[in-house]
Amino acid sequence: MRILVLGSGAREHAIIAALLAEGGHEITAAPGNAGIAQDVEAVRIDIKHPELVAEFAVDGAYALVVIGPEAPLVAGVADALRKAGVPAFGPTKAAAAIEGSKSFAKAVMARAGVPTGADTTATTLDEVRATLDASAPPWVLKADGLAAGKGVIVTDDRAAAEAHAEAFLPDGPLLIEEFLAGPEVSLFVITDGVHAVPLAPAQDFKRLGDGDAGPNTGGMGAYSPLPWLADRYGSEQAFVDEVVQTVALPTIRAMADAGTPFTGLLYCGLIVTDDGVKVIEFNARFGDPETQVVLPRVESGLGEVLLAAANGSLGAAPPLVWSATAAVAVVLASEGYPGDPITGRPITGVDEAAGLEGVQVLHAATGAGEHGLTATGGRVLNVVGTGPTIAEARERAYAGLARIGLEGGQARTDIAAGA
Ligand code: ATP
Repeated sequence: MRILVLGSGAREHAIIAALLAEGGHEITAAPGNAGIAQDVEAVRIDIKHPELVAEFAVDGAYALVVIGPEAPLVAGVADALRKAGVPAFGPTKAAAAIEGSKSFAKAVMARAGVPTGADTTATTLDEVRATLDASAPPWVLKADGLAAGKGVIVTDDRAAAEAHAEAFLPDGPLLIEEFLAGPEVSLFVITDGVHAVPLAPAQDFKRLGDGDAGPNTGGMGAYSPLPWLADRYGSEQAFVDEVVQTVALPTIRAMADAGTPFTGLLYCGLIVTDDGVKVIEFNARFGDPETQVVLPRVESGLGEVLLAAANGSLGAAPPLVWSATAAVAVVLASEGYPGDPITGRPITGVDEAAGLEGVQVLHAATGAGEHGLTATGGRVLNVVGTGPTIAEARERAYAGLARIGLEGGQARTDIAAGA
């Protein structure tokens, strides 16, 4: 199948690697990155420009366009592709609001009866103060709109909570949400607007430092499967079934009923509380870095399932075939990340790392210069280890990472250590 993949991160590199591994596809990436360009054709087009992307897809006779990041979804790229008759994996602009507006997501969940934390909306600092007065810490405050991962604070510190409110209230309402205690799980669900095909659960590590210390990041690592989840639920499948029945399908139905059917990937961000599974967020696309550990576990069927979701025929698609492999991803970030990353530094040892058994290097912010690879942004690359157990996958990921050189590079040493 001729597939166009939009995006330039390690997530898109993982999608492309999984499609290449199952075979039978001819893939183009736009814009891709230095690592992706080593694997497939990469073209420079403005992927936030709906008409341009649609024209490119029609001219190139692509059978499917997979939209990786959120920005093109919000810009309406999926809408333009559908209008042009090109199957697009990704929701319309209207349906992508399930990620872009937390109050929209809360309203959908309320209609659908999906378990989530209770919340109050505040539009003034006085309302925020009154809500904080009426509840005990820790407090969870969320900016309603997209804030590049910076809109949420979870804190015991009253002054920090108020400062967060002051910083984000000018941009719109603030949600003050019940604090939910428990481990976090990400579950990806592929949908055509009616049917749901869940992928495997994964866990990511959001903080910069070992032991979850330091500032929040876009994600410093991930692993899948989650052995502790299987212990708790009897099997991973039992957990997945419960989330599909109590979260994904009711949400998909509610979106369709509201006239904004959701197709593509519904990312369910969950907390496993003593009171059952509850939703903390939805995203409208594959998560990063979880995709990097989920897709290496899919043996075949991915291209067909993505196409069937785009075409509205997911109910008739052959099931995905999973391998018994475990996967661990460790992110290598530039010095200064998540503040101002230092860019332009050379990266060494990538080929050597990728040559190790069960090691894959997925590029994010890399560029190919005269003197080889350089880091071009914050999160530079992911080293993914796969193996029969989490322990072996983890060992391989770190063995790969040890071969890679980047001056000032930052990586956690404890990804999946507890698993
Ligand atoms: P992302 O950058 O992943 O899109 P976001 O900015 O949309 O995240 P959330 O995922 O909603 O924000 O929240 C960020 C983090 O805050 C979560 O990963 C979780 O650790 C914590 N969190 C969010 N809501 C709650 C809650 N109700 N109770 C406890 N912790 C929470």
